Amino acid sequence: MSSDVRFTDFKSDKQPTWCPGCGDFGTMNGMMKALAETGNDPDNTFVVAGIGCSGKIGTYMHSYALHGVHGRALPVGAGVKMANPDLEVMVAGGDGDGYSIGAGHFVHAVRRNVDMSYIVMDNRIYGLTKGQASPTSREDFETATTPEGPKQPPVNPLALALASGATFIAQSFSSDALRHQEIVQKAIEHDGFGFVNVFSPCVTFNDVDTYDYFRDSLVDLADEDYDPNDREAAKERVLDADKEYMGVLYQDDESVPYGKQHGLDSNMSEVDEGAPDGATDLVREFY
Ligand code: SF4
Repeated sequence: MSSDVRFTDFKSDKQPTWCPGCGDFGTMNGMMKALAETGNDPDNTFVVAGIGCSGKIGTYMHSYALHGVHGRALPVGAGVKMANPDLEVMVAGGDGDGYSIGAGHFVHAVRRNVDMSYIVMDNRIYGLTKGQASPTSREDFETATTPEGPKQPPVNPLALALASGATFIAQSFSSDALRHQEIVQKAIEHDGFGFVNVFSPCVTFNDVDTYDYFRDSLVDLADEDYDPNDREAAKERVLDADKEYMGVLYQDDESVPYGKQHGLDSNMSEVDEGAPDGATDLVREFY
């Protein structure tokens, strides 16, 4: 790893095709800055992306990358990290990708606690397919396919993560550049699965969950006397029906990632007689 890496080193030569003003620009900039600030460089970083507007991010970032199938980015990211623990693995996707078709993978990735970060660009709509209600759309959000709204309560990804045993839960806003970067940095530095739900507005298809809405309504936990190690306090915040929060809602400082729990934190790419160097019996049985 180079110590003089700049965030621009993480930019690829591909021009994003996101709509002008899309929140994903700010989300990606914060991710690149956080990676650079935590001492990573493109040679040790692996970005796994899902499907959707957000899923294009692996093309726009300069690193190892894989554009996964819909909802399946998390198990790929876990496999990459298990195969080569020296890599910084960042999985990225949207609310449709992560909380609908990928919801099962989300729950199990959370409870498995592999040491990687998961950045969800939550715009509360399916943007790439031209504006259908997503799992986080409001109950009364009118779209062409749900003219009276989806008529079901939205998924609460923070509560789902907490209930599944998450060791790191955070929420940020793509337009609050410094705060977003700082929160993603903490997710990267966390010893385990660092989950960040990022409000990343879709300026083309969502005229409700806008930049103004998040700017006016988000409550920053940095302005409160808040202890992210307090699980009960986190429970109150993630179930608060009246307010939405920005910051690290929960962090378990005692977190032991899956690889360390099972002796899989040495580099499996160093193959010795058909089995990975340093592998435990748990892994050897697969060879
Ligand atoms: Fe962004 Fe929405 Fe455009 Fe997709 S459709 S690029 S989410 S603004």
